[in-house]
Amino acid sequence: MTQIPFIDLQAQQKRIRPQLEKRILAVLDHGKYIMGPEVYELEARLAAFAGVKHCVSVANGTDALLMALMAHGVGPGDVVFTTTFTFFATAEVIALLGATPVFVDIDPQTFNICPRALESAVTDLANDKSSTLIARGIIPVDLFGLPADYDAINAIARRFNLFVLEDAAQGLGGVYQGRPSGSLATVATTSFFPAKPLGGYGDGGAIFLSDDTIVETLRSIRVHGQGSDKYENVRIGMNGRLDTLQAAVLLPKLEIFPDEIAARQRVAETYTRLLDKVPGITTPTIPDGYTSAWAQYSILLDKRERLQNALQTEGVPTAIYYPKPLHLQTAFAGLGYGTGDFLVAENVAGRILSLPMHPYLEERDIVRICNSISIALTGKVCA
Ligand SMILES: *Cc1c(COP(=O)(O)O)cnc(C)c1O
Repeated sequence: MTQIPFIDLQAQQKRIRPQLEKRILAVLDHGKYIMGPEVYELEARLAAFAGVKHCVSVANGTDALLMALMAHGVGPGDVVFTTTFTFFATAEVIALLGATPVFVDIDPQTFNICPRALESAVTDLANDKSSTLIARGIIPVDLFGLPADYDAINAIARRFNLFVLEDAAQGLGGVYQGRPSGSLATVATTSFFPAKPLGGYGDGGAIFLSDDTIVETLRSIRVHGQGSDKYENVRIGMNGRLDTLQAAVLLPKLEIFPDEIAARQRVAETYTRLLDKVPGITTPTIPDGYTSAWAQYSILLDKRERLQNALQTEGVPTAIYYPKPLHLQTAFAGLGYGTGDFLVAENVAGRILSLPMHPYLEERDIVRICNSISIALTGKVCA
């Protein structure tokens, strides 16, 4: 039985190998390894892709989040609201700056931050006269590639004067009400970690925004808080640059990215068509007006471990994103949350399972995966 890969970076490399070699060799020839011309070319192309005025490329998706918060002056005494069901980095950066993450439960269908739960969390803090904490911002996450509900979230933000940081590490390529992911909030960030929809050959990330002042602050933060002169430092910053070589790798990948997003769409549609026939499985819900970038294809089911083991022996890898919501992580124990605080996220964390997903997954492999699932659960094939 041949093993199906969970993601297949080799198929993509085979497709664009000559363009990759040409771009990488160009960097070896010009030798501008830091902030070379490929970095600026990539930033211009990414800004156009995301429909924003500015893109600031950075070292990784975590730095992108961190720098976006720094540019908004987030620090001790500040509160940033975010979803409890996400990758650790989303909330890690809030705590790293000495601010307080306030977690919010998710919508049971989209797995994204629930606007109603967000509104009560923001209202509760505003009405808490004993608290000295100041609400500053919201970080919604476009989980698995599906944009969060930005109309509802941005309305809450306007009412309470908060910034919104779209964590589009998984979301780039998605669409919300006709607008591309990366353009849906005050500022947005993404990651080029190899397994993300637009992945490089190493770490990378980017920040998207249209504000002409904050973009200057971000560019300064990226190089040690540099002022107008290289050895003048006007604020505390960091070394947050994207390597020229990584930009060179990402440029040919961005060329084929729209085509790959369309291919992911077809893979997801095939999965859903087949798996909707299997009792006991909940396939992903994509609300009207939304397009997912399909970073992951994740189903819900009971007795997950049994299915995972059965698929393993059939050469079908699966993954659990995420087994533990952030409010239950040891690193955040000091915040005082406990089991039962966010019931939807806790329930989903116990039942979610992600299936192999990449643009080069062939129909016959999808059929094989779905039949393996169906046989494990019902004893019969589904296709
Ligand atoms: C991957 C990811 C990040 C972090 O990106 P890195 O490039 O790995 O630092 C942040 N948020 C979410 C939701 C992610 O999936």
